[in-house]
Amino acid sequence: MQLILLGPPGAGKGTQATRIGEEFGIPPISTGDMFREAIKKKTPLGEEVAQYIQAGELVPDELVLGIVRDRLAQPDTAVGFLLDGFPRTLPQAVVLDQYLTEKGQKLTVVIDIEVDPEILVMRLSGRRICQECGAVYHILTKKEQQAGICDHCQGRLIQREDDYEATVRNRLTVYTNQTAPLIKYYRDAGLLLQIDGAQPISAVYQGIITGIRQRLGQ
Ligand code: ADP
Ligand code: AMP
Repeated sequence: MQLILLGPPGAGKGTQATRIGEEFGIPPISTGDMFREAIKKKTPLGEEVAQYIQAGELVPDELVLGIVRDRLAQPDTAVGFLLDGFPRTLPQAVVLDQYLTEKGQKLTVVIDIEVDPEILVMRLSGRRICQECGAVYHILTKKEQQAGICDHCQGRLIQREDDYEATVRNRLTVYTNQTAPLIKYYRDAGLLLQIDGAQPISAVYQGIITGIRQRLGQ
């Protein structure tokens, strides 16, 4: 099963990815998480991508494609995968298609989570993540049990630097200009499953699972 989670920043991709991955037994793969990990570890890749991420710009395609290719070559993806935050440009989508064709694989469904921009700003400015495991929280809609501490690993919760309001607005513009064209690309390919992401987290999840099962004829 080869899935893609599409949608603007703050739509709820990361929140849904973990559960969908567990449901279908496939690894969730977030390019944003991989970049944040590289920045934290101060690797050469981390140093190269940090400036783009902090400015809310996209990382250049060749850097993104390099890490995705390496990740998809790992054995745990043999059963499938769930891509979260990739592809984000048409060239990335085209290269992914070529890569899957070479491997004799096909995309199963592209899940597009849709949410209005005003809600996105509220979601992103209230988002907190665990600096250890990356688990996602929100100061109003998904609170941790013990203030500032991750429920899963006891790591410290932090605000992402690219979640400050000025950067958030730029990220939404970048999404509209560079990533939103992928909606048509995947609709034309007959792969798109659109979900109303303004619903509560559990309703979004149910919508996604039901939609995928319908596609699979289950
Ligand atoms: P993305 O990965 O698409 O950028 P996240 O999954 O990190 O988005 O979610 C962004 C913020 O919105 C997080 O703080 C998360 O807790 C919150 N959130 C996610 N889904 C919902 C939802 N359906 N309703 C309310 N808040 C949500
Ligand atoms: P995310 O965690 O998905 O919100 O991604 C955080 C940031 O990482 C984005 O704002 C981009 O700067 C960068 N990034 C993640 N995935 C990609 C991608 N597929 N293409 C380009 N940049 C990306």
